[in-house]
Amino acid sequence: NDLDVIIVDRWTGEYVLAEEEINDIEIFAAPLESQYSRIAVKKGNTELLNLINEGLEKMHKDGTMENVLNNWGSERVFYFTSEILRNVIIRSLLIIIGIIMLLATYLINKYRKLSQKLERDVAHQTHELLLANVRLQEKNAELKMRATLDGLTEVSNRHGFDAAYAEEWEKSVRNQTSLALIMIDIDHFKCLNDNYGHLVGDEWIKRVAQTIQTFMHKSDHLVARYGGDEIIIVLTDTTEARAAQLAENIRLEVGQLADREMKEDGPSVTVSLGVAATIPNETLKLKELINRADEALYRAKKSGRNKTVVWKSHTKTLERH
Ligand code: GH3
Ligand code: MG
Repeated sequence: NDLDVIIVDRWTGEYVLAEEEINDIEIFAAPLESQYSRIAVKKGNTELLNLINEGLEKMHKDGTMENVLNNWGSERVFYFTSEILRNVIIRSLLIIIGIIMLLATYLINKYRKLSQKLERDVAHQTHELLLANVRLQEKNAELKMRATLDGLTEVSNRHGFDAAYAEEWEKSVRNQTSLALIMIDIDHFKCLNDNYGHLVGDEWIKRVAQTIQTFMHKSDHLVARYGGDEIIIVLTDTTEARAAQLAENIRLEVGQLADREMKEDGPSVTVSLGVAATIPNETLKLKELINRADEALYRAKKSGRNKTVVWKSHTKTLERH
């Protein structure tokens, strides 16, 4: 029972070795012969030979041989040693692991791309939302501004004046700076309307307002249509003298508007102006300064129009013709 080396017919030998559970057999030489199996009998045993030949002939005749060949002839049989089997299993596992890794890489890439796209989409949407918000705020600001603008003259309306004046008043009380108002009214505007029609009248209100606007060089100064042919100016941090000078400049400029057109049958347009200024305090009401500017304007009208009057407790008249 002590085997060192064996030479076997491969199929038979391996079968016997497996049956006997003889392991650790190493194939170490090339096959001596590698032909198909053949039938052989002991030399001289013609009886057995004949019997086999007869049997084979019979199998040929009755189709058994053809059957067997058809059934088994096309099958290829592979021979596996446990080493080949192990290699095959290891390679298969490696291939499967490789495929899984490729698949995982593909899926991770796909997921990464998807999440990048998602991130881009979210960033895009956020950007769009921010833009929409900015547009909305701009629209709101525009609407708010429009709500305080006079449609004809495009300067502030009465509502805009009330809000801005109250704010500037508070600021002037806090900072103890001089706040000035100029109230302006077109002279004999009814006549202009009567003689040239309301549309021309409208045009002149607009021109006067916009001419006044060109004199404003500080952003917190405000020009507003106070009503009808009346315009008011709020001048922050401005002394009475400075406001009076500005009023005079406006009066002269408006007076030249019609002259410059050189229309013989055109209207002559002048304005009267009332100026009032004060350093506001807690006892003085903001309405009071408006009354003073109005009173000064009234005096300008009374004393002949096309004039600037500065309010004083004994109101004086500036006349420059
Ligand atoms: P005065 O010199 O005293 O100011 O005389 P006036 O004719 O200008 O009188 P007043 O200022 O009292 O009248 C203003 C007129 O302006 C009254 C109205 O017919 C006219 N008016 C008011 N608003 C408008 C407007 O939007 N367009 C036009 N075309 N006329 C207006
Ligand atoms: Mg008038």
